[in-house]
Amino acid sequence: MLGAMQDWSMRITHVIDHAAREAGGREIVSRWADGSETRTNWAGIRRDALKMAQALLALGVEKGERVASLAMNHSRHLVSWYGVAGMGGVLHTVNPRLFDDQLEYIVNHAEDKVLCYDAAFQPIVDRMKDRWTTVEHYICYDSGEYSQSFEDWIGEQDGDFEWVMGSETDPCMICYTSGTTGNPKGVQYEHRSTLLHAMAGLQPSSFNFNPGNVMLPVVPMFHAASWGLPYAGAMAGIKFVFSAVNDPAVLHELMLREGVTDSAGVPTVWLAHFQYCDQEGIDLPPLKTATIGGSACPRFMIERLMRNGTRVQHAWGMTETSPIGTVGGPSSDWDRLSFDEKVDKTAMQGRPIFGAELRTVDLDDMQTLLPRDGKTPGALQIRGPWVIKRYFKAQVDAITEDGWFDTGDVGIIHPDGTLQLTDRTKDVIKSGGEWISSVELENAAVGHPAIAEAAAVGIYHPKWDERPVLFVVKKEGEDISAEDVNAFLADKVAKWWLPDAVEFIDEIPHTATGKISKKDLRDRYADYKLGNGAPAVLPMTWHG
Ligand code: AMP
Repeated sequence: MLGAMQDWSMRITHVIDHAAREAGGREIVSRWADGSETRTNWAGIRRDALKMAQALLALGVEKGERVASLAMNHSRHLVSWYGVAGMGGVLHTVNPRLFDDQLEYIVNHAEDKVLCYDAAFQPIVDRMKDRWTTVEHYICYDSGEYSQSFEDWIGEQDGDFEWVMGSETDPCMICYTSGTTGNPKGVQYEHRSTLLHAMAGLQPSSFNFNPGNVMLPVVPMFHAASWGLPYAGAMAGIKFVFSAVNDPAVLHELMLREGVTDSAGVPTVWLAHFQYCDQEGIDLPPLKTATIGGSACPRFMIERLMRNGTRVQHAWGMTETSPIGTVGGPSSDWDRLSFDEKVDKTAMQGRPIFGAELRTVDLDDMQTLLPRDGKTPGALQIRGPWVIKRYFKAQVDAITEDGWFDTGDVGIIHPDGTLQLTDRTKDVIKSGGEWISSVELENAAVGHPAIAEAAAVGIYHPKWDERPVLFVVKKEGEDISAEDVNAFLADKVAKWWLPDAVEFIDEIPHTATGKISKKDLRDRYADYKLGNGAPAVLPMTWHG
């Protein structure tokens, strides 16, 4: 027997319709690369999205085809999120920091037909145009100098248009993961998965949006669907402040002037902001909430933001999970915790939001289910309506036989459901049969005031199989020794975790999404050997 409720297909056009109807006047501010600013609102975004949908159909783009964006955060990019989906197309948000070979691969693999880009990326377009074989039209978001300008292009349409509807499970967006090995892989989001993910993002234990929030998302719109913020924000009718540049001075000024209450970004964004405020001798911006994820948020960062009165929501997820899996909202025991305990708890990756299920399995057999005991690390697996089943154009599913996606992360699940991420499966260091978390070592090390960045990798050791070596970039003008580093770490990690060598280097390699590239680091130091297989800094008698 059928239920008695109305048909309402979960298409994301409902999201922009709702925002325009219920919060139409709520502002969307854009600070452009040339320093200029524009203001529109949710009604304006919808109006332009309708025109863009018409303009795409006029160019001959068909339902299901991909339209690419190569752009930073701004209102015209936001228009594209809704305009492309609104004509049944699939928006491919291209990461401009990818290498040329990857850029060539993903645009051709996605068969992008139209590419909308920022003038700042004109050099990329010039370089890649001959290599992108499927792109027929180029539109420039902020200038008409080289290609037709976005405003002129959509300005040719009257906006009298009905959204193209279809199945809830039609695709609406594709993001490629810049894996460290092989070609990037496409993750295609559905209307339904996107809508459910955004609704889950509204939970108080997640982004906790209400109409009064003013969000400046530093997480780029080209990375992992910008954590779903452009959808969740529309559902709640919040004000957005976008910046096409990530200069901390610009962000800081915008945050103060526009009354920003919330921000979201990777930890390095806050590192840069701390440095800026220290240099200028000014306070951090008075944010209510900072959502931090993408890589582990170090303890000292959480502490400083919390002392500033900012609630830190440490989130974990990945492109394959749309991306939100867990968020660190206040736990049930929050009010009873001391400040230090709150910081400790926040340094973990939070709890699954409704819809995301997590489990850990044995790292060796990848099968045996592990207890949620707060101490056993295992391979982290996830399932849910916004978790990948199969990569774009892949022949086989990307999930286990019983339907779980293996994240490639290593984590501990605590009895209250809190996830503590300890590593990537490929990066975890196995010493004498025991696991050492490279991430924990790194996080502890960057708490040292003279250390700018640190990366721990396992290096072959004849007796223990692997031992950790810590690569360290010093802050400018600072000087420390390997002994100083180990002395600093001594009360922060288990004794047998202490690195066998500390190497000072000028720069740690990063991936296109700003994460430490352990693969590049290992390649660069492929011939590295611990002296005589013996520890470079500390004796290892304590190990066994
Ligand atoms: P991406 O698909 O590029 O967003 O990368 C996802 C990966 O980033 C995850 O599989 C984790 O390894 C890492 N990651 C994301 N959030 C966190 C976090 N809060 N702490 C530690 N690692 C994280």
